[in-house]
Amino acid sequence: MNVLLTGGAGYIGSHAVRHLLAEGHRVVIVDDLRHGHLSSLNAARSASPERAVWINAGVEDYAAMLAALVDYEVDAVMHFAAFIEVGESVADPLRYYANNVGGSLVLLKACIDAGVYRLVFSSTAAVYGAPTEVPITEDAPLSPINPYGRSKWMVELALEDARRAHGLGYAILRYFNVAGASSDGVIGELHDPETHLIPRALAAAAAGSSVSIFGDDYPTQDGTCVRDFVHVEDLVAAHSLAMHAIVPGMGNAYNLGSERGFSVREVIDACEAACGHAILRNPEPRRPGDPPALVADSSRIREALGWMPRNPDLATIVAHAWTWEKKRQSQSL
Ligand code: UDP
Repeated sequence: MNVLLTGGAGYIGSHAVRHLLAEGHRVVIVDDLRHGHLSSLNAARSASPERAVWINAGVEDYAAMLAALVDYEVDAVMHFAAFIEVGESVADPLRYYANNVGGSLVLLKACIDAGVYRLVFSSTAAVYGAPTEVPITEDAPLSPINPYGRSKWMVELALEDARRAHGLGYAILRYFNVAGASSDGVIGELHDPETHLIPRALAAAAAGSSVSIFGDDYPTQDGTCVRDFVHVEDLVAAHSLAMHAIVPGMGNAYNLGSERGFSVREVIDACEAACGHAILRNPEPRRPGDPPALVADSSRIREALGWMPRNPDLATIVAHAWTWEKKRQSQSL
């Protein structure tokens, strides 16, 4: 298939590029490198550069999106490009709505106008807000508690309306906490600034500095937030399964998690085990917008599409992240 990926130079997008190329597809990568990295893009497409085109544009550029969809005879779109930081979304919500919602609406219109009726959308467990029941199924109420989650929810609603009005087919993938790096160490996480727990803990380990613990008074087993970590390679494999299953005019939503919850303290313990020494911990106030516990029930995608995470263990996820962290530091990536 010809697959267009927005945000294909980002962390998850670059892993998806690599996965789709390995499956034999042609990819059209749309990324203006606002947050993506040329090094990730080039590493991701290095095995099959002849099947990977890069378009330096943002999703809010309707003319560029329409041209890309038509010129490359795109069959399906994976829409990764978005702002992703909960805390930043609380501080600067309008920027999040403009980018995450506004950009997605432009892309959706371009898809409809180009006759592309298969779209995989990167959503988030943040659409569930602070759920009362854990693990969370897709049928849990959607009531996000921060602008990031609300921006993703709004796009979910727009997808459903576009399905009814125009026959769009979509798969909404609600990510829990994505982590790790490619198992062969070729690509990994490169955020600037890095806000995510595992890379921050590992960077602290490498630097001999401390990692913050944002809140230790949550109603959880040790007072710190509980999250469900899914390996980035398992996550992108689910995208391919979901893409192939899309039928124009039909829409589905799937949770993507490993179905096990770990507290922030347990995650730092796992980082210590991976790197072989203690990591200093610095207690800090709660980070605005963080729900206490998010753990997936992913049975829908396992049963409907046969998704089977290959690396669900936190130890493996952290080990791959640590291998990547050492490479990132040694190559100044
Ligand atoms: N967290 C932390 N210290 C950090 C980064 C994150 O305690 O340096 C916490 C954060 O408050 C949240 C959890 O780790 O409870 C996961 O945060 P992350 O930013 O990795 O992912 P999110 O859940 O926001 O998608």
